[in-house]
Amino acid sequence: MTEQNDFYAPERVLVVVAHADDIEFGMGGTVARWTDAGTQVTYCIVTDNSAGSNHPDTDLEELTQIRYQEQLAAAKVVGVEDVRFLGYPDGTLQHTLDLRRELTRLIRQIRPQIVATMDPTVVFSSTNDYINHPDHRAAGEAAVYAAFPSAESRPIFRELLSEGLEPHRVSKVYLNFSLQPTLHVDVSETWQRKADALLCHKSQVGEDVLKFIREWDERAGREAGFALAESFRVLSINRDDHAPDGAEGR
Ligand SMILES: [Zn+2]
Repeated sequence: MTEQNDFYAPERVLVVVAHADDIEFGMGGTVARWTDAGTQVTYCIVTDNSAGSNHPDTDLEELTQIRYQEQLAAAKVVGVEDVRFLGYPDGTLQHTLDLRRELTRLIRQIRPQIVATMDPTVVFSSTNDYINHPDHRAAGEAAVYAAFPSAESRPIFRELLSEGLEPHRVSKVYLNFSLQPTLHVDVSETWQRKADALLCHKSQVGEDVLKFIREWDERAGREAGFALAESFRVLSINRDDHAPDGAEGR
């Protein structure tokens, strides 16, 4: 069932992805809609982004700092000030209990209604021309299992209780780059800001990338009757009593 006409802007959203630029490719327009509506959005970038160059002379520590700065600038374009970098080595990310604990800690600190991440079930693209980066899947899987069951279960990661972090129930998990989207967000009005944010990642992308991202978002838009859209598979795992009618995704 599709819930394409219900744009849900809660109080707080946490976005968890592997790399600087993952958010801008897939959900920058949606983030701009959230911040326009007054939602507090926090970004968590799990890796140090040091695999963003294949050049043998690249100083990888310097690259990490450049990419962190690019991410901060991109966040600012869509109204996000709170960006957390976890610094795991880029390219070899695993869904470990340490990572799941760190994300659980973050969820209990921020207490978001929505956790957005990349769909960890996608291994290959439907067009058979892309192997999903394993870091995307690892970050997505850790974020999903941090949202449920870890964040809401008192007995899991009991050490977090001694940090004063009580359990928190996440209402919805939004999975970006999914092959089974259930929600199309109209980003026609915010698309230019998405493009501007994407171009902040100067070490990774140039203007040429905008053409294919626009085609991508136009295709998603056609499925829902919008000029431009971003799509998500939405898991409604807990009822949010503050959500508007029809925004429960059932
Ligand atoms: Zn990536």
